Amino acid sequence: MPSQVRLKKRPQGNAFPQWRFTEDETPDLEDGQIRLRLAYISIDPGMMGWVTDKRSYIPPVNEGEVMRAFGVGEVVESRSDLYPVGSFATGFTGVQSEAVLPAEGFIRRIEPGNLPLNYFLSALGMPGFTGYFGMSDIGAPSEGDTVVVSACSGAVGSIASQIAKLAGARVIGIAGGPEKCKLLTEQFGLEGAIDYKSGSIKDCLREQCPNGIDVYFDNVGGEILDTVLTRMNYKGRVVLCGGISQYGDMDSVQGPKNYLSAITHSLTLRGFTMQDYLLQIPEAVEVLTPLVEQRKLRVLEHVVEGLQNFPEAFEMIFAGRNLGKLMLKVEQ
Ligand code: NAP
Repeated sequence: MPSQVRLKKRPQGNAFPQWRFTEDETPDLEDGQIRLRLAYISIDPGMMGWVTDKRSYIPPVNEGEVMRAFGVGEVVESRSDLYPVGSFATGFTGVQSEAVLPAEGFIRRIEPGNLPLNYFLSALGMPGFTGYFGMSDIGAPSEGDTVVVSACSGAVGSIASQIAKLAGARVIGIAGGPEKCKLLTEQFGLEGAIDYKSGSIKDCLREQCPNGIDVYFDNVGGEILDTVLTRMNYKGRVVLCGGISQYGDMDSVQGPKNYLSAITHSLTLRGFTMQDYLLQIPEAVEVLTPLVEQRKLRVLEHVVEGLQNFPEAFEMIFAGRNLGKLMLKVEQ
């Protein structure tokens, strides 16, 4: 029997949303639709925004609806020539074991070849593309630039930081805890890592970025953004990718109090979402696929088993209990 996770109650204040589990049959296919059997479901910080009833880049999920999520899986039934049975697809599938989707909707056919399906939710999926476009197009580091990336051991940060390294930049990652920091320097080869949970970020930045910061890729907002702003170089670029430190209470978001640095140092602070780059996804696929195949780009993933563990996995990402791209493996 197919199973689904639905939004039961939107988050109130700093409480997490509530969920409801169902086992509803999926409908028969109409012309132009496919049935996808899901293998993996992505858990994203942005989900908090999707269940909040605020004006955003995408309409909110309504209470009672299947929770929106990226997923990847195999086409098991098809009434579309674009997706034969046995082909693979990724896109907005929802948190469910099986999805009936319009073939011309928000999905994309993939050719996994020898690569595992889960890679299409991480380095070769939305987080990878976000890290790639945010860093290469907006951050645009040059050889020798100093680049700082927050939530650096996460899905987006781990790719953004590696793209900056490939451009010849000196990269310092910010992450929570010694284990994550060790991984960044020892396995990802970053020049430095700052554990924001111990000690003063300001002192660490002064020590590890003695010539200032040219590019800051911000995934967290809040105090970390504020502190980094005081160390930016003239004409530096701040890539506003996410603000996870603020997602816990969307009614009380704190803006950067050191924004005057943007005036005194002629900074560019530019926000973006992946929606801006949808038409350029083939470019990201072309650049990132060989890097992954040749292991020049490391893929870091954290897999939790079973749809029933969605609520716990959702909360893990806000507590920093994930190491790399967090996703659910769907048991079929
Ligand atoms: P992720 O980094 O894999 O996981 C989230 C990480 O954020 C946690 O592991 C934790 O790492 C850190 N974190 C959680 N609470 C924090 C806090 N209060 N202060 C500082 N760090 C905190 O998640 P992701 O999918 O790559 O997303 C990273 C950011 O990018 C999010 O803000 C997300 O909304 C944003 N994003 C934006 C787009 C876009 O299109 N603009 C697309 C995807 C994601 P530590 O243990 O290191 O604290």
